[in-house]
Amino acid sequence: MQIAEHIPERGHVIGGKIAASVNGSVRQLICPATGEMLVEVSEGDHADIELAVDAAFGAWPEWARTTPAVRSGKLLRLAGLIERQRESFAAIESGNGGKPLGDALAEVDFAVDNLRFFAGAARNLKVQAAGEYYDGFTSMVRRESVGVVAAIAPWNYPLMMAVWKIGPALAVGNTVVLKPAEDTPLTALMLGQLALEELPDGVLNVVTGAGATVGASLVQHQQVAMVTATGSVSTGQAISSALASSVKRAHLELGGKAPMMVFPDADVGSVAQAAAMCGYGNAGQDCTAACRILVTPDRYDEMVEAVVAEADSVAIGDPADADTAMGPLISHAHRDRVHGFVERATEQGATVIRGGSPLEGPGSYYDATVVGDVAQDSELAQREVFGPVIGIQRVPETDLVKYAQDVPYSLAASVWTRDVERAMRTAAELHVGTVWINGHFPLVSEMPHGGHGLSGHGSDLSSASLEAFTDLKHVLVNIGSAQ
Ligand code: NAD
Repeated sequence: MQIAEHIPERGHVIGGKIAASVNGSVRQLICPATGEMLVEVSEGDHADIELAVDAAFGAWPEWARTTPAVRSGKLLRLAGLIERQRESFAAIESGNGGKPLGDALAEVDFAVDNLRFFAGAARNLKVQAAGEYYDGFTSMVRRESVGVVAAIAPWNYPLMMAVWKIGPALAVGNTVVLKPAEDTPLTALMLGQLALEELPDGVLNVVTGAGATVGASLVQHQQVAMVTATGSVSTGQAISSALASSVKRAHLELGGKAPMMVFPDADVGSVAQAAAMCGYGNAGQDCTAACRILVTPDRYDEMVEAVVAEADSVAIGDPADADTAMGPLISHAHRDRVHGFVERATEQGATVIRGGSPLEGPGSYYDATVVGDVAQDSELAQREVFGPVIGIQRVPETDLVKYAQDVPYSLAASVWTRDVERAMRTAAELHVGTVWINGHFPLVSEMPHGGHGLSGHGSDLSSASLEAFTDLKHVLVNIGSAQ
């Protein structure tokens, strides 16, 4: 499938129109599976952000005044438009990001479900009941939109992350300027273009370009009231620093280092299957990737053998091929970064048991990798690799919770045991945003997803994400004293 034919226009979406960059610059996108040029898109800068924020700011009052039912209807129809083009969205996502086509289709379907949830939830926001909390006054709480929201998306789930940002923000009456990741802007541009059919001009704007220029200009713009960003820890830190003087609100979804905690009574075969699916899914480029198996010493050898067998069966290849389970990494530069982690791990005493090298060919493929004897204080245990690398650690049963949490990230963890009491106790002890028991990976529109510590703060998904894009206002009405 030719990707280019699915993209009607490659300019930014600003104020209801498709526009080339003010300075005329373009960026070439590279297909990670072939290393060839895919398509050119506009490369914005500060001037494009000025136009987009102006458009969003101008559109805000009227959009904020629409009823939840009107906004909900428009978002539902937008979800329907995406669904009708699901094959095109998936083909572009797969070609642009290198993910297997089947996975890309599932992501488009989930994004549609997310958008439908946000549309419905907009009509059901909760606050305290109005009443007389002070003698002679009726108190009520209004939940109001905040204004222009800057939405910054990463490259690993381009459409889905865009929807997680724009969906709740728009649903509660904000207007948005979305900046997709520089390597994977195509489905965000499609989304912005489709939205022109449903949303008033300026309500959703999309500006493509680099984080250091477009992203930085956007988050610091005076008329931007709030920032929601998903990305690496360093990006979260840069955004936090940039916002310090304005005290602007930020919602940050950052990196992770999710452990699979394997207790002695766990079903090791199930752990290994889940590890392969969730450690090599999206080529390990996932914030909740199952990248760290913590297993008690008595089950270590069995665990290694089972994970290697699963890794052997992962079909690596052309993302467009229906049998492919794992495609390339996003770029050669990222593949080199991943390989650096593996090389340094061996210098720090770990053993590469399987894989551990780039694969031949023009694409940025990396082998499904299993690394054993990983020490808790080593870089591989402590830092996010964001590639198909599963590290296995021997951990005494009494230290499983301690080791699970002794990393700078607190995003997610999975607990593997047949003992319900132990599972529930462990879930309560872990300070992370999501805990799976005897499973890893699933997320749903209705439940929150977010982390603590260096993994960020705030939640995507669920009605909590809509509330985060609102301000509360207490209104007191003098009704006179009852006496
Ligand atoms: P990244 O941090 O390189 O970029 C993310 C986005 O931020 C991009 O659009 C980029 O252009 C922009 N950006 C970069 N610097 C900026 C700045 N100074 N100001 C404003 N915007 C800026 O991340 P990535 O490599 O695209 O994505 C991978 C990272 O995202 C991983 O660390 C992963 O764990 C994380 N992630 C987290 C979640 C989650 O839910 N917690 C979900 C997906 C991805």
